[in-house]
Amino acid sequence: MVKLSRRKFITKSIAIVPTIGLLTSCKSNLIASPLKGPIVVSTWDSGLEVNKVAWEILGKGGKAIDAVEKGANSIENQINCCVGLGGNPDRDGYVTLDACIMDENHNCGSVAFLEQIKHPISVARKVMEKTPHVMLVGEGALQFAMENGFVQEPKTLSKPAEKEYKNWLKKSEYKPIINIELGQGKEHFKNQDVPKKLENGNFNHDTMGLVALDSTFNLSGACTTSGMGFKMRGRVGDSPIIGAGLFVDNEIGAATSSGQGEEVIRICGTHLVVELMRNGNSPYEACKKAIERLVNINKKKARDFQVGFLALNKAGEYGAYAVQPGFSFSVTSSDNGGKTYNAESYFK
Ligand code: ASP
Repeated sequence: MVKLSRRKFITKSIAIVPTIGLLTSCKSNLIASPLKGPIVVSTWDSGLEVNKVAWEILGKGGKAIDAVEKGANSIENQINCCVGLGGNPDRDGYVTLDACIMDENHNCGSVAFLEQIKHPISVARKVMEKTPHVMLVGEGALQFAMENGFVQEPKTLSKPAEKEYKNWLKKSEYKPIINIELGQGKEHFKNQDVPKKLENGNFNHDTMGLVALDSTFNLSGACTTSGMGFKMRGRVGDSPIIGAGLFVDNEIGAATSSGQGEEVIRICGTHLVVELMRNGNSPYEACKKAIERLVNINKKKARDFQVGFLALNKAGEYGAYAVQPGFSFSVTSSDNGGKTYNAESYFK
């Protein structure tokens, strides 16, 4: 695979702007504002508020790594179904958090199955900066967090999470999409036949992934989640896994994901998206091709799960694509003051 120098990459990106311009008129997934300065893109509508916090740093010429960390912190502070200590617990009633962060030099840090700590993304950053390791999990991650001044919070659930959990306990159905044909994990699941779409048509996902380009054209990203609600105790999804929930290559671009983590891990999702960009695809095309790769593994199964990819390249172009309708993303740059878009999807 050929690595493009930044200069060549930028030239190439500018060359593809007319194509992107055409696409822009049909959908807002892929607007290009190459080389106009900082930009931050994040998953979901909730990303708009997160972007605001990131923009306070980016807009003043600050570093992308600081912007993504502070952006992620802001949603970890809120009560949200799927991020931070206010999120939905596992099926034993404990909130367990996963997060990772990556900078422009391939430095990365990650925590998984972390309990009672408000800001997993900041612990991940400390892992990146202060240890020779990339990933700490469970008790070890908690111990490391406390050694580094993080406060151990009580185990109590937030009010909405408590309500959801009580509701869930009535049936205690655990229905992740698994590979039923291969019989994987059958012994763990009481019910295998029904997809886990919620009544309102949404899936139980809302991970916050954000990637940013700063005024010095450095890229960084962060991803933080409480994971799938009512997951098995000890289950870890894609979000803290470098190359699955998040990947940054400062020569090319960055990508993040939300959705059924098992499916993202299966294809090293965000690494794939970045490699597709390296091969000349726009962020939109790269996300679309990665989703197609995923769907084509088993189309029937793909009807029942959601995955969305979101990517940003070195030229400040962005794009997203999902398996199902409903995946949104938010974009903030000096051009737009913050906007949310609906991503296109494989199934309509
Ligand atoms: N990707 C997350 C996980 O699998 C879930 C989500 O996006 O909400 O843990």
